[in-house]
Amino acid sequence: MRKRVIAVICSCVMMIGCLSACGSKQETDSVDGSENLRIVATIFPVYDWIREILGENPAEIELTMLMDNGVDLHSFQPTATDILRVSSCDMFVYVGGESDQWVEDAMKEASNEKLKEINLMDTLGDDLEEEEVIEGMQPEEKDESEEPEYDEHIWLSLRNASVLCGRLAETIQEMDPEHAAIYEANVAAYQQKLADLDNEFQNIVNESTQKTVLFGDRFPFRYLTDDYDLNYYAAFAGCSAETEASFETISFLAGKVDEMKLGCVMTIEGSDQRIAETIIQNTKEKDQKILTMDSMQATTSKDAGRGATYLSVMEKNKDVLKEALQ
Ligand SMILES: [Zn+2]
Repeated sequence: MRKRVIAVICSCVMMIGCLSACGSKQETDSVDGSENLRIVATIFPVYDWIREILGENPAEIELTMLMDNGVDLHSFQPTATDILRVSSCDMFVYVGGESDQWVEDAMKEASNEKLKEINLMDTLGDDLEEEEVIEGMQPEEKDESEEPEYDEHIWLSLRNASVLCGRLAETIQEMDPEHAAIYEANVAAYQQKLADLDNEFQNIVNESTQKTVLFGDRFPFRYLTDDYDLNYYAAFAGCSAETEASFETISFLAGKVDEMKLGCVMTIEGSDQRIAETIIQNTKEKDQKILTMDSMQATTSKDAGRGATYLSVMEKNKDVLKEALQ
């Protein structure tokens, strides 16, 4: 639903991508001159999972994060270089939702016959959730013919993360069987950490009498709240392109804050917090805190270089949730 008008631009880029891909194939093979296997992941969480699975990276596999300039996956527009990178790698991993519609055309350019393509949403299959519009949300202008959309923010469930890491590890083992045992050990250790953190989230929810969170913002955390049977309210479904909340939306949410006696209104990273502030001004107490959870939609490899990991961000989200449920 956030796909806007970029389809046309995209197809132009694709054409340029094709031309340059066809024209410079040999160049790219020789640019880095290496025979190393190459993996391209679109977003930070997946990039970080693969880093964990590779560990000390015995085969010196080259790992690239494609969406690396702080623009989220919904607004991503591949450049010709991106198309080339994706179509010439050995393993390409992407979320596979509505925002990744560009992938299909990019894959037509694939120059590596052995390219392993992993669509993570396909991997989850029945565990996918449809994006839902619940009471109090700002309605979106929708095309009547539009099919139900699956929520793309699959990485925000630690349980999904574990399943997806298993799949990634299998594929890396197929690619590099020589070091299969190492990858297997790495993924098992990582899955244990995911399970431990999942338990910590569950304990926080179990120990709290408050089971509702309210986002005065977009809401990419559906998979997370579903894992722990939390109720939620939000201004917008998923990462809706809407930015303005109506008076009805604001007053509904402010009423819920009063009714549920919530001590805070949540936002997501990068928010200007305007809607959250307006909600608070419309409550009786007007003294709620604004707390922010990080959905990692704009995390870059620079952040990763400075120490950000999927687990460290989810740890912080856990602390924020704990405060929110108090
Ligand atoms: Zn999003």
